[in-house]
Amino acid sequence: PVTLDLDKIRKDFPILHQQVNGHPLVYLDNAATTHKPQMVIDALADYYSVNNSNVHRGAHALSDRATQDFENARGKVQNFLSARFSEEIIWTRGTTESINLVAQTYGSEHVKAGDNVIITAMEHHSNIVPWQMLCERVGAELRVIPVNDAGEMAFDGFLELLDENTKFVSVVHVSNALGSINPVKEIIAEAHKVGAKVLVDGAQAVAHWEVDVTDLDCDFYVFSGHKLFGPTGIGVLYGKKALLEAMPPYQFGGEMIEQVSFSGTTFNKLPYKYEAGTPNIAGAIGLAAAIDYLSGLDRHALAAHEDALLERAKQRAAEIPEIQLVGTAKNKASVLSFLIKGAHPHDVGTLLDQQGVAVRTGHHCAMPIMEQYCIPGTVRASFTFYNTLEEVDALFDAINKVKMFLL
Ligand code: PMP
Repeated sequence: PVTLDLDKIRKDFPILHQQVNGHPLVYLDNAATTHKPQMVIDALADYYSVNNSNVHRGAHALSDRATQDFENARGKVQNFLSARFSEEIIWTRGTTESINLVAQTYGSEHVKAGDNVIITAMEHHSNIVPWQMLCERVGAELRVIPVNDAGEMAFDGFLELLDENTKFVSVVHVSNALGSINPVKEIIAEAHKVGAKVLVDGAQAVAHWEVDVTDLDCDFYVFSGHKLFGPTGIGVLYGKKALLEAMPPYQFGGEMIEQVSFSGTTFNKLPYKYEAGTPNIAGAIGLAAAIDYLSGLDRHALAAHEDALLERAKQRAAEIPEIQLVGTAKNKASVLSFLIKGAHPHDVGTLLDQQGVAVRTGHHCAMPIMEQYCIPGTVRASFTFYNTLEEVDALFDAINKVKMFLL
């Protein structure tokens, strides 16, 4: 049994301690966004109360301090992902912008008519549409790895799609809609055999366990700060240095230039080449504080606790015959998507909220996989380490009341 000091951990998250609709809040929407520990809130307040200044080139103390904290934050993300160089870490607004950046720079340069790009059927819209638009624009083919009824991608199906015209493979590490964990290391190794580059959408992975981009050998890895206990509006693009150096810039303006004259412009070195304009300084500093917070905890113990939460949820779900689980992959993160037969997911969500239980309902920005299952959406409970077994029980006790009301 794992011994985590959950009381202490929960005290670190002030938002958890409130009543919603007359009940103690049970927050099970962590795949949509995670809450922020006091350390992150303090880091944001400190930055704005003490150090607020624009970064780089400032000729004064505040700017020096802001620059130092901002660049230290980059170093923390580098360590967090086990990247080789800090200039391989590019700040973006989030996963969505990171993927768009790669599709519009690397993708535009390397994907041509007759080539193909491979994704899975379980992608979030943000890892579908940028590739779909690129393929439509250049006359390339978007190929989709099939996913079975359990929500597992077909590895054989992937190998069948992969050929010498495959220029890019972009796959989700953990599905936000189903919780399935994809075998990204094996995907990367196979893609590299035909010379294709690989992006891993780590939006749902980084909060659950340690990711090592050097060991994975991925070409790009992307995630959002707000799903990692950090602020919104900040995200990360990791890219291999040689690729980032060769790619064209994404946006143009201040910070990303070296020399500008009306006869021409040269671009800044990494990572600034991809960071046009004033960055989200506070966001980067807040994200670094979230990483510091996590590094003060035993991440293996956190992961084991999340597994226990999922196990309890699966057990309780199995006791209710009307519950149909959506996504039963063997290898799964702490996400439980389900339907209650005879009830619309939105009605279930509303009735759970009335009992203080926060879940997400709908298509979870993954309409194609919902279409495959012929359902409009699901009810999704997504757990993280600050959740308790008692909260899992509260969810199912609330579901039993919903059943009495709706069925
Ligand atoms: N990919 C996955 C797997 C996600 O879960 C999400 C967020 N739901 C995104 C991409 C998009 O992240 P963001 O909205 O923070 O850019």
